[in-house]
Parts: sequence; structure tokens; C-alpha cells
Amino acid sequence: MLRIAVVGSGPSGCYTAQGLVQQHPGALVDVLDRLPCPYGLVRYGVAPDHEKIKSLQNTLRSVLEHERVRFLGGVPVGPEGVPAARLRELYHAVVYCVGAATDRHLGIAGEDLPGSWSATEFVSWYSAHPDAADGFLTGARSAVVIGVGNVAVDVTRMLARGAAELSPTDIPHAALTALAASRVREISMVGRRGPSQARFTTRELRELGTLPDTEVTVDPRELAMDPACAEPGSLPAPQRRNVEVLRDWAGTPARTARHRIRLRFFLRPVELLAREGRVGAVRFERTAPDGAGGVRGTGRFEDVEAQLVLRSVGYRGVPLEGLPFDPATGTVPHRAGRVLRDGAVAPGEYVAGWIKRGPTGVIGTNRPCAKETVASLLADAAALERRPVPDEPVTALRAAGIDPVRWEGWCAIERAEAELGASLGRGTVKLPDWQSLMDAAQRF
Ligand code: NAP
Repeated sequence: MLRIAVVGSGPSGCYTAQGLVQQHPGALVDVLDRLPCPYGLVRYGVAPDHEKIKSLQNTLRSVLEHERVRFLGGVPVGPEGVPAARLRELYHAVVYCVGAATDRHLGIAGEDLPGSWSATEFVSWYSAHPDAADGFLTGARSAVVIGVGNVAVDVTRMLARGAAELSPTDIPHAALTALAASRVREISMVGRRGPSQARFTTRELRELGTLPDTEVTVDPRELAMDPACAEPGSLPAPQRRNVEVLRDWAGTPARTARHRIRLRFFLRPVELLAREGRVGAVRFERTAPDGAGGVRGTGRFEDVEAQLVLRSVGYRGVPLEGLPFDPATGTVPHRAGRVLRDGAVAPGEYVAGWIKRGPTGVIGTNRPCAKETVASLLADAAALERRPVPDEPVTALRAAGIDPVRWEGWCAIERAEAELGASLGRGTVKLPDWQSLMDAAQRF
């Protein structure tokens, strides 16, 4: 048998486990996760109102229920749990699918003022991540979202959604209540480059225009600053479609609505300004195209009022003690998924997903990424299998004081979430804290 640990139960971990058991009849795969719940960013990143994407959990579930795959939740890998070197002793091979766990920084003054958060913190809150912070909407009347990627669109949309739309989702009850009571009416989503260079996808962009009681505005002057917007026909299809949607909105007369989403471009954040001990506005420098795909500053500035600032400028991988790490890219150096230590292949160690290629692409991008890693691992299998490993790694984990949450424990959490929802007159409602998750995991 080939015993493999996959660290991380998000899409890249599940696709890796799937490839391994499908292609190697002797593969036994343990999928480890720090959390007692599986599915990574599908559970803790996909917005609650994107139920269709969330239903991907059913596909991932069938992987974790495979007879040669085990889910072992509540197992932190690293100094606070199982050290990477110890894990390597317990399995023939270890595949790290740990994603990109933190946010990129702007590096500007005022970034850490109260009221300024990373979008990933806000996403964690409305996704019921047990480590999430709280208090995002307190005292906020207007919000600025910095960045124009799909995460920026997600958080903008969630700020504009009403209780009636969110109540049928699995959003935690405290987040639903806070969003229902939110006084945020104006949300500016701001890009430092032009409309044709925005990173959001057209489907996500269009959805903003379908939100009830919400007006979306685009400043025609900012569209006109982007030379590509004058001739969108020459743009690649995804950018052309974005520009067409934005042009439609720019040409639509303003109307009165409960929420206003302002899409802004060619504004680079330079400072977060404090008012009464918290963020009160974002100072932007007006930029202009530099003719080479980038922008240059113009020396003109604009302050946009906001008591809530969500910095949505991308995720970033974090180093895992015992594994090599390239701080420039936030990834683990690798060759076709094989981890490289000082340029040489480290036998039995692999990576897949965002920690391998950086935080880009949609969920499906993880399939070919995992496929490449699985092919490398299986090509090495004969050599890896020669090293003896314990018959039952869980015994060693227990000896180290870690008692994993097994699949039955996760199923018990799912039942508790259904019961909580029923008691609130809603569908399934996520448990938002460690205590209630761990208590529920014991009830089977
Ligand atoms: P992203 O697509 O890389 O977008 C990051 C945005 O931040 C860009 O607009 C970027 O502008 C801007 N930015 C970066 N540094 C900046 C700075 N210093 N100042 C101002 N702006 C800055 O990242 P993301 O939105 O976090 O998404 C990550 C990945 O997850 C993407 O592949 C995304 O498609 C995917 N995702 C998909 C969905 C979905 O399919 N529904 C939902 C969420 C996320 P520049 O372009 O100028 O660098």
C-alpha cells in the first residue's frame, strides 16, 4: 500500500486525493485539515449567496467518502500540531494543499486603523470561519473596497444584500443580523488601473446589476480615460464583455435606491485618513495609463469617505515551518509539484493548489494543477513505497495528543447546523465558533 497524507481538504486537496485513489489501486489517502470541517475555501471562501458554486461540496464529499480516503479534521500541521518532519515519517508521501492563508498588504499609512480590514477577514466572518473577527459594520455608513477582482465583487455584493436574500443561505446568524441592521448605503469599489484591466469576471460583475434596490454607477469620464474602452472590439473576449457591461451602466441615468455601488477606476490608494480614532476616508491619487499596461501617478488626489475599508488586493501564501518557501511569490518552490529544497527534489514531498502556483484561477483550475502533482507522485511511487511507515498513522497522532475529527464527527457537525437552522426558522445555518463545532463533532 502507498500511504499518503494530503494536507488541506479544499478543492486542490480533494482533487489530489481523487487522482491518487483513481490511478493507484493501493493508495490509502488521509486528508488532514486544521479545521474540524472539510472543503477549505468552498466552505470558508465562496460567498453564501453563491449556492451553485457551493454545491461543489457534493463532488468533494464523494472524494472524502471514498473507501480508501479518510478525512482527519482538527489536525494542525506545523509546530503547534504535527511537525512537517514527523508527518513525513508517518506517510510514504505528503502533499501540501494548504492554499494561501493570508492577505496581501498595501503598505500605506493608516492601513491598520480601526475600520480597515482585509477582505479575507470579512469573507471569514460571513463564512463562519471559527477564527474570524467581528464588528466590521459598527458605525459604518459608507464603505470603500480596494481592488477590482472577484473577491472585491463578492464583498461589495454582500454589503449590498438584504436580509431577505441572505436568510435562506447558510450565513451565520450573527452576520445575518449585523448585515440586516447595517447602515452602509454607499459602497465604492476602486481599481488602480482601467476598466479593461479589472480582474473580475463578467458573470460576477453582471450580478451586481441584479441586486434588489441597488444602483450601480460608473463614471463615464473614467471609462473614457481607458483607451481600450473606446475600441473594446480589439480586447480579448473576457475584458471586452466587462467593458460592455460597464459602458451600459455608465450610460444609465441615476435613480434612487437603498444601496449605491460606485465602480471607480484609475485611483491608487495612498493613505487611509483617520477621523475620531478610526478610518474616515481613503486618499487616492488619480492615475493615468502609461501606455504599457500600467499606470503613472498624476499628482492629483481625491478623498473618498468610508468608515469601513476592505482591502481586496489578493491572497498570499504563508510559510509552513519545515517546508521551503519563496517569499517573493508566497509559494513553495517545486518542479511539476515535487517540492524543491535548495533546488533539489525533496523525496516524498509535494504541493498542489495555491501554495504551488499562487492565488489565481477559479476552483476548476485546481483540477489540472492537482493532476500534474499526482502524476509526479505516482511516477515516484515505487521508490517511495520502499521506506517502511507505521500501519496506522492515527495511533501516532493520538500519542502526540491529537485526536482527529473523523468523517462521522463532520457529519455530526452537519446535523447540528441543520438543527440550528430549523430552530431559527431557516435552512442550514453554519456554526461560527470552535466550541460549538467541537461539541457538535462529539455527538455521534
Ligand atoms: P485578484 O483577482 O488578483 O485581484 C486583486 C485586485 O487587487 C486587482 O484589481 C489588483 O489590481 C488589485 N491590487 C493589487 N495590489 C494593489 C495595490 N497595491 N493597490 C491597489 N490595488 C491593488 O485577487 P482576488 O480578487 O483576491 O481573487 C483571487 C482569485 O480567486 C482570483 O483568481 C479570483 O478569480 C478567484 N475568485 C473567484 C471567485 C468566483 O469565481 N466567483 C470569487 C472569489 C475569488 P492590478 O490588476 O492593478 O494588480
